[in-house]
Amino acid sequence: MPCKLCGRKLVFIQGWPGTSKCPNCDSIRIVNRPLAIEISKSRLDYLDGLFIDAVRKFNKNNLIAHLIWEREKFSRSFIRQYQVFNISVFLSYSILIKRIMGESSFSGTIAANQKNTGELVEHFSKYIQFLTDHSHLQDGFAELKAKSDFRLETLSMSEKLSNFSIIVNEDIIPIYQTFANNQIYNETEAQRKYEEYSKDLEAVERKPLALDPETYISRNYEVLNLFYCGMLRDEIWGKDVFDFANYQRARITPDQVTAVANIFQMPEKSPAIVDSGMFRVWLDRIFDNNLIEIERLFVFCEENQSTFPLFVELEDRVLVPHATAYLVSRLLYPIVHKELFDAETERRSKELEMVRVVEAFSEAGYRYHSNLTDKKQPSMQIDGIAMRNRELWVVEVKGWRTRRYFEHRKIQDWLARDLRGIIDGWKYSTIGGTQRREKKVSFLEKLDFVKRNMSIWGFRREDYDAVNGVIIIRDYPPMSEYEGVKIRSVNEVGSLS
Ligand SMILES: [Zn+2]
Repeated sequence: MPCKLCGRKLVFIQGWPGTSKCPNCDSIRIVNRPLAIEISKSRLDYLDGLFIDAVRKFNKNNLIAHLIWEREKFSRSFIRQYQVFNISVFLSYSILIKRIMGESSFSGTIAANQKNTGELVEHFSKYIQFLTDHSHLQDGFAELKAKSDFRLETLSMSEKLSNFSIIVNEDIIPIYQTFANNQIYNETEAQRKYEEYSKDLEAVERKPLALDPETYISRNYEVLNLFYCGMLRDEIWGKDVFDFANYQRARITPDQVTAVANIFQMPEKSPAIVDSGMFRVWLDRIFDNNLIEIERLFVFCEENQSTFPLFVELEDRVLVPHATAYLVSRLLYPIVHKELFDAETERRSKELEMVRVVEAFSEAGYRYHSNLTDKKQPSMQIDGIAMRNRELWVVEVKGWRTRRYFEHRKIQDWLARDLRGIIDGWKYSTIGGTQRREKKVSFLEKLDFVKRNMSIWGFRREDYDAVNGVIIIRDYPPMSEYEGVKIRSVNEVGSLS
């Protein structure tokens, strides 16, 4: 909610959740957006240059091999002990491997070891954080704050780095709330949630059953969704690194990815190291297909940098990281079995409609009637009516949830468009890149219908002060009201008024 005194968007200096401040009333120096983007961009370029200089001091192949092993250790610790899966670290390793493969002019004076690769990854994760902040700034979810006054003409790089910080504004709240609702957490919160859920996860994930994709998705939906939305929350890496469209086109299944790894023994203290020729012989056997195409998918190397860096070829050897392959195969479920995954999402949305919304209203002291229809006008299907004293709410339930690139303004704008569409009576879709819309019964028409015809279900208009409409969604909406209709998460029913 904007500032009560001056109407300006509030900001969170220490991050969200935290105390919100008003840039005007609390006198915070916010840099105007075009200049802010310019300053932020020049900081990014500078840090990127520093980073690449540091990387070039290494021996290239040696460094890549180390990064693959560090990523693999990280993946093993997740699978074996269900440690909190810090998605950003897994992302950083993969982006870094791809990035370094594309660089040249390495002097090779430093040998990679656990300590210096660790430091490199840490610096790189910070750089990725800067990149995310920058994208928030561009999308209007964040502002650039100056600690003290500055003169643009004489601004040095060290001032750009020390005098400015990127802080989020209130527009980011529904996104963070939604991530939290979907278990895409920061580390502290992840730890807490993990402790709550670890037993469930163990029971679900550890059973080494061969399941058909449909059953697998249904049993592991939450975990798969976490992977999918977590890794693809941002276009920065989604487009360049975590892009599996090539796997999808070649109809590679998740099981095939783990099958490639499982041909080879998994050593305790390194990824499997396989002779390049041998690796190709096995690929040919497993896929019984066009080897050139399969190679392009599964052998990431100097000459082939356009696929995900899972199995990486360095000097006639391919590194095969088993646990990493397993995690990538999980990420593939929602991508290559998209229809099954979407069907499960749909099923869960229905469940939300039937169960969670009813519970939420009951807990808040409402009487709730589900799925009210009229024989004469079948299009006037009402998801629910909730009553408490002289209050009456006509309820429409929508179960949609996070999707890829959720952290971008564009996606948030689509969600807002879809919500307005429900109220105005338009259903939007994008087919082949073109937006279409189709006329539907609007929620406003439904509201009007209830007001005039509620007696068909045995309710009396005079028993209620007003008849209001509310759309309930699973996650947190980018707007809270439109055309007098409230829009709330199912978690916010208790505070509806
Ligand atoms: Zn103010």
